[in-house]
Amino acid sequence: MKLCIFDDGRLGVVRNGAIFDASAALDRLPTWRYGQRTGDPLIEALPELLPHISTLADAAKPIPIEQAMLKAPVVWPGKLVAAPVNYNDHLAEAQADPGTFAPSQVRRIHEIGLFLKAPSALVGSSEGIMLAKPDRRTDHEVELAVIISKKASHVSRDEALDYVAGYSIGLDITVRGGEERSLRKSIDSYAVLGPWMVTADEIGDPGALAFTLQVNGETRQRANTRDLVIDVPGLIEMASSWYTLQPGDVIYTGTPAGVGPIQSGDILTASMERIGTMKVNVHGG
Ligand code: MN
Repeated sequence: MKLCIFDDGRLGVVRNGAIFDASAALDRLPTWRYGQRTGDPLIEALPELLPHISTLADAAKPIPIEQAMLKAPVVWPGKLVAAPVNYNDHLAEAQADPGTFAPSQVRRIHEIGLFLKAPSALVGSSEGIMLAKPDRRTDHEVELAVIISKKASHVSRDEALDYVAGYSIGLDITVRGGEERSLRKSIDSYAVLGPWMVTADEIGDPGALAFTLQVNGETRQRANTRDLVIDVPGLIEMASSWYTLQPGDVIYTGTPAGVGPIQSGDILTASMERIGTMKVNVHGG
């Protein structure tokens, strides 16, 4: 199933190019008191709610996707985990351009580990990217994004995919320079997630998904998740060995070669096999 959050926080099911409103399912989320929350309540409840969501969608009228404001499909992720230089061709392009990619930060992922993007950076595809440092080179990075379904601590790679709720396309927008990654990649709107979440059962193996990113119609990045240095099960194993992953946590799995600068007025088009296509406008600057 393809699930989206749209307009003023409505829940929709995407079928055949239209959205079917299933917001009434949100009324069945458990209530909680301040101090109790540990993860995104909708993602946590999805296994029980999905049949009801599907039934609601069956009875809903179609809304053309173009008329909807698509927000990030996870509203309250506890953390956005991200993998640095997780494709060898991106490592090579970064090593070849030390003026743009700070050499101290361009090392193999096995040495660097993972980093975090602030959840406050999260936006959906219709919200767009608002450039905040127009004097600094700011790049697109298209990535497979993995949404965690349930608490995951010290999970082995053999069990890792049991902890995945679904997948989206991620844009890890990045100011280049020598500051910490978490700073350069946490500006408001620099974590795009969308256009919706595809539940894991519809994706199957996340290790063979072709994807592209175009800027104003010109293809800049073209890759396949089979070329990840550390694959999705490996990233879940690695991340969950350092901290507990919670329902709704998102893992940005890393970007392939072809990263490059964006500017105000650009239109980014990201497509991924079995997920779909999203257009994202760049504003500001
Ligand atoms: Mn990235």
